[in-house]
Amino acid sequence: MGKKKVYDGYKAYGYLDARFDYREFKLCKEFDRVPPYYVPLSKVEEERFEEFVDRNVIIDLHEHPVLWPEDMSESMIIQEYGRDFTAYEALSKARIDCVFDHLMDGTAYITSYSGWKWTDVVHDIGMRLCDFHHQSTVTHCRTVDDIEYAAEDGKVALVLCLESATPIENELDRIDVLYGLGVRSMGICYSESNMLGGGMGEAFKDAGLTDFGYDAVKRMNRVGMLIDVGHTNDRTAMETIEASDGPICDSHSGPGAIARGHTKGDDVLKALAENNGVLGVGGAGRGLLTEKHPVGSIESYMECVEYCIDFMGIDHVGCGPDTLYGDHQGMYKYWFARRLGHHRRPGREQRTSLPKPPGVEDPGYVRGMENPNEFINVARWMIKNGYSDEETAKVLGGNALRLLKKVW
Ligand SMILES: [Zn+2]
Repeated sequence: MGKKKVYDGYKAYGYLDARFDYREFKLCKEFDRVPPYYVPLSKVEEERFEEFVDRNVIIDLHEHPVLWPEDMSESMIIQEYGRDFTAYEALSKARIDCVFDHLMDGTAYITSYSGWKWTDVVHDIGMRLCDFHHQSTVTHCRTVDDIEYAAEDGKVALVLCLESATPIENELDRIDVLYGLGVRSMGICYSESNMLGGGMGEAFKDAGLTDFGYDAVKRMNRVGMLIDVGHTNDRTAMETIEASDGPICDSHSGPGAIARGHTKGDDVLKALAENNGVLGVGGAGRGLLTEKHPVGSIESYMECVEYCIDFMGIDHVGCGPDTLYGDHQGMYKYWFARRLGHHRRPGREQRTSLPKPPGVEDPGYVRGMENPNEFINVARWMIKNGYSDEETAKVLGGNALRLLKKVW
């Protein structure tokens, strides 16, 4: 919306001396690491697209907009140094007004190889904020007004989020501490269960919201922090929606009825919509895989967006593609493999892909939704496929903005 974003030339941690102050890793290219793909538009559609981007608030509910190492075998080592490198220049060209940055989250292994430690999460937040103070491309977003001010000033508003409340352990006050540090959205749990509720990655997915989780929901309501059920199992998501005094979100899931990958069932989507919440359609790493589109791409992503629009109503669908700058699938090779001491418990699902019809190629990344700069393909796709500007604006940020006005 408004002015074009202005990049001030700053590179992350430019106030420090690389190699002297911290171990330097060769980071991936900020642009064109893979061939960029933008949904092709006619001249008239292209003009409409430009006007659309100028006039509407674009909010992306789930990203990790930081530069990962070029060599992903270093991806877990770099995390131990507690420094994520915001991709300022790329973000300034992404046509996004407000991005929800979900931090290191499950990959913050500074003091522990199991992750999610309170100290590590606070370290992560502090390092990122310190870096923000040395540049002017990105602003730390804490209020709805911050989104508008940033757009008027040609800046990107960045919301600090946690995918899981695991680091609060059994301390409700830590919710207030995180809010004080500027965190404005938090998940109930990650794929593994915690003190609050049941995760989507467990062998048994029947664990609900715990009593402590219920208290945490009420505290988040009081402080005005957005509640996210992105990684919970379906039962915990349903009970969280019910427990919350206001609408909540799932920042990055697909519809399980038609897609494989990171998904939620129809019951959850229905309850989210009925309680005025928003689903950010996700699609991390390998993307959402459907029968029609067995390889993740902008087409499989939009098939899922359309399903959600039909099923939930267009007022409850947003986008949280959950991308990063770097070889996401390459990172999985090291990330999933590194966990020590965990057994293959019977009943625990193994990751599966759908059979690929002959002739269908998998480029090893989600074509058209590979990094935050391709987020805007959602608008291009909707313009190309007959949606009105009003409908497109809802999905690209209008619904998220309505939710934030209510919650923050
Ligand atoms: Zn996630």
